[in-house]
Amino acid sequence: MAKKKTIITAAVTGAWPKKENNPNVPMTPSEIADDVYACWKAGAAIAHLHMRDDQGNGTMDTAKFEETVNLIKTRYPDCDIILNLTTSGDIHADDDLRVAHVEKLKPEMASYDCGSMNWLNSSLFINSPQFLERCGLLFQELNVKPEIEAFDPGMIANAAYYLKKGVLKAPLHFQFCMGCANGIPGSLKNLLFMKETMEQLCPGSTWSCFGVGHSAMEMLYGAVALGGNIRVGMEDNVMYAKGQLADSNAQFVERAARVIREYGNDVATPDEAREILGLRK
Ligand code: ZN
Repeated sequence: MAKKKTIITAAVTGAWPKKENNPNVPMTPSEIADDVYACWKAGAAIAHLHMRDDQGNGTMDTAKFEETVNLIKTRYPDCDIILNLTTSGDIHADDDLRVAHVEKLKPEMASYDCGSMNWLNSSLFINSPQFLERCGLLFQELNVKPEIEAFDPGMIANAAYYLKKGVLKAPLHFQFCMGCANGIPGSLKNLLFMKETMEQLCPGSTWSCFGVGHSAMEMLYGAVALGGNIRVGMEDNVMYAKGQLADSNAQFVERAARVIREYGNDVATPDEAREILGLRK
């Protein structure tokens, strides 16, 4: 029997960690492109991308996305990694700006945060019903696969609602965001609950997960053992282990690939991930 394929997503920068948190976090389009290539070499099938402005803050600037996507393609023509662009890279960006780069660049995937929440105990992370309807319909029109980020089980229920309404189209692909402040804590029990909630409300969906901070390893092993897929990288963790800063994003991908192979699965190539997720041909 063929081995199960596990998809690794590399989330290389996110919106928050800066060089003072870890000097190896990529910030510029050039640094991000180089990290994406290194992660692809190490086994990542998907790159989840955020952009930073010149001060290192998260930005939804279309030009930065375009520059980075072009750099990946021109500097590394052999790199066939799937690009998954965030729609939530700056909580101050308006709804138009949050989708402008998706309309322009038509990536194979883009993130879809399926509800609102408090963010890091300090601000609001708003994904209004109007925004979610607009995004869902736009992604269908452009044939961009949404990566449904669920920070708690209520967001899975919300995805089921939009599925029923036709705003989202089956099969869905979820990213369970575990251990974020104000979201569901990252534990194996909670991961199993997220998976079972998804299977009950949105049968036939695929899923991946990541754990922020100290839940990272529990989520990595949990994802593999429960038949899911895994996301790693400096968007979620700047520490590789307790007291040890990560050397690079690729270091996280290499570890995930080792765990997947030791478990007895194969690391999915980008084309295998395209097949599993039903991305556009
Ligand atoms: Zn992100």
